[in-house]
Amino acid sequence: MTAIDVRGLRKAYGPLTALHGIDLSVPTGSLTALVGPNGSGKTTTMRLLLGLERPDAGEGTVLGHPLDRPRRYLPSVGALIEQPALYRRLTGRANLRVLTEVSGTDHRRIDEVLKQTGMLPYADRPVSGYSLGMRQRLGIAGALLTEPRLLVLDEPTTGLDPVGTAELRGLLVSLAATGVTTLISSHQLNELDALCSHFVLLDRGRKLFEGNRTGLAAAHSPVVEAAPEH
Ligand code: ATP
Repeated sequence: MTAIDVRGLRKAYGPLTALHGIDLSVPTGSLTALVGPNGSGKTTTMRLLLGLERPDAGEGTVLGHPLDRPRRYLPSVGALIEQPALYRRLTGRANLRVLTEVSGTDHRRIDEVLKQTGMLPYADRPVSGYSLGMRQRLGIAGALLTEPRLLVLDEPTTGLDPVGTAELRGLLVSLAATGVTTLISSHQLNELDALCSHFVLLDRGRKLFEGNRTGLAAAHSPVVEAAPEH
């Protein structure tokens, strides 16, 4: 079963081709890493999958619905594409309450997502006192309010200190155990390689590799671990 199954995804901005026609096959329930350096096309891929922009070419399905019908699948998708937009003077709980009102979600979900993300102890403090990691976790809590089947997280560990990164990793593992499919991007493979079960490596808008950890090790070890010749 694939949560995301797209082929030939292409996007250009004027003369610059951000994606040269990539295929993706994200297994249902996987924690999938989308890894590549600056400008490799990670955010563009996510924006196309979320229907924020239309691809120039490409087709496929997200959660079984056609890519060009995002309204059919977006109710089942939670996303964190930039730093979460939070009201700094409001508490974490009040921020989530605003989101439930906007999305028409049951307020009773608030305590559940606060527990799920480890944010319950901080819920009644103003967001202005939160660390970046706490803000990211609250952002993920917001994305979980609608009980998504697919989570799309664009570089959520950027700027986090080691403690924040470790807490976020713990959260991702616990979310994966609930069966939600997660697509998460990073500049650095080593941030995600122990965590994820499926990997997509991008470079300059092209896919270099897609597969599981065993395939990833096989694809990389001969180059990375080759002993110097004497
Ligand atoms: P980063 O890690 O820096 O976020 P990324 O892998 O997410 O990089 P993208 O943001 O998808 O990469 O960008 C891919 C390429 O497309 C880059 O060269 C970028 O400058 C370009 N690009 C992205 N969005 C636009 C836009 N709206 N207009 C023009 N060029 C864009």
